[in-house]
Amino acid sequence: MPTTCALCRRVVHHERLDDPQALQEHHLIPENRAESPTVTLCRPCHKQVHATFTNEELRETYHTIEALRGAERLAEYLSWIRSTGKLDIRIRTSDHVRERR
Ligand SMILES: [Zn+2]
Ligand SMILES: [Zn+2]
Repeated sequence: MPTTCALCRRVVHHERLDDPQALQEHHLIPENRAESPTVTLCRPCHKQVHATFTNEELRETYHTIEALRGAERLAEYLSWIRSTGKLDIRIRTSDHVRERR
């Protein structure tokens, strides 16, 4: 099982893997889970991705890990999370994602 987050590239240390949700599978094409490739993300990154983008945006534009890594809307988050050891963060869903739920 991978122990590195594909987005922020932080390594989740062994003892923290006791938390089964510390690393999560993200379906790059959210509405087509059966065929979608998956990547392993740490919990903060996974939450952040879904709080930042709608499923439609993920499907149309951010369906590769490279696209997510390069996304301008994640840049500030990524530089912050990389400076922390946090595996739990509070996230406010962006208005534009909330409006589409
Ligand atoms: Zn991460
Ligand atoms: Zn996901």
